[in-house]
Amino acid sequence: MNQRFSGIGMTSQRTRARMLERLRAQGIKDEVVLAAMNDIPRHIFVDEALSSRAYEDISLPIGFGQTISQPYTVARMIELARAGRDIHKALEIGTGCGYQAAVLSRVAKEVYSVERIAPLIAKARKNMREIRIPNVKVKYADGTLGLAEFAPYDVIVMAAAATHIPQELLSQLEMGGRLVLPIGTETQKLTVVERTPQGFQHTELEQVKFVPLLGGIA
Ligand code: SAH
Repeated sequence: MNQRFSGIGMTSQRTRARMLERLRAQGIKDEVVLAAMNDIPRHIFVDEALSSRAYEDISLPIGFGQTISQPYTVARMIELARAGRDIHKALEIGTGCGYQAAVLSRVAKEVYSVERIAPLIAKARKNMREIRIPNVKVKYADGTLGLAEFAPYDVIVMAAAATHIPQELLSQLEMGGRLVLPIGTETQKLTVVERTPQGFQHTELEQVKFVPLLGGIA
């Protein structure tokens, strides 16, 4: 790995190790998720001017009014989605700069991610090429509709806040599959929906803050 990948100073492996310690302290327990968070260099996904802050537990601007999610939020959502299972197919709604998709690529065999802002697609693809992530396909589409082409999915994670659960996402869940998404407007509740033979089981968890899910493509 060259220096930009491995990082120096505030982007070094040591800084990332501190992020891992913080995630553990914040309650993330899934070792598969923690290993994935340790594997993916978050500083590659933010502008160089912000890279010294890449391993702080904060969201950061990625352009077009959008943000890269906090490390804790990414880890928490993937831990909830995985629920200790091996994941074959994962769908992410809201690729942004591609960070969460890259982390997902370490816990799922195939990852599909949809984004409605075209320049962010280009950015995400470039970032993932740079760290050689082979199993993520990024699609330019309205994620409100999910991505029927590759359904069903074992997990669906949505990185933008919806006012209600889009029906299409439920129908694209595999039996036993889990959808994790923030529901609400100003502030939201992190929500898990599990597809069981008895129906869809909803669980509301902590309050979170995401950018809104918008309809259509930009
Ligand atoms: N997953 C990113 C977070 C991106 S922020 C990360 O790893 O940090 C949320 C993203 O959702 C934004 O890029 C926004 O453009 C996108 N988004 C919002 N509504 C959408 C929709 N209907 N379909 C697809 N993407 C959407």
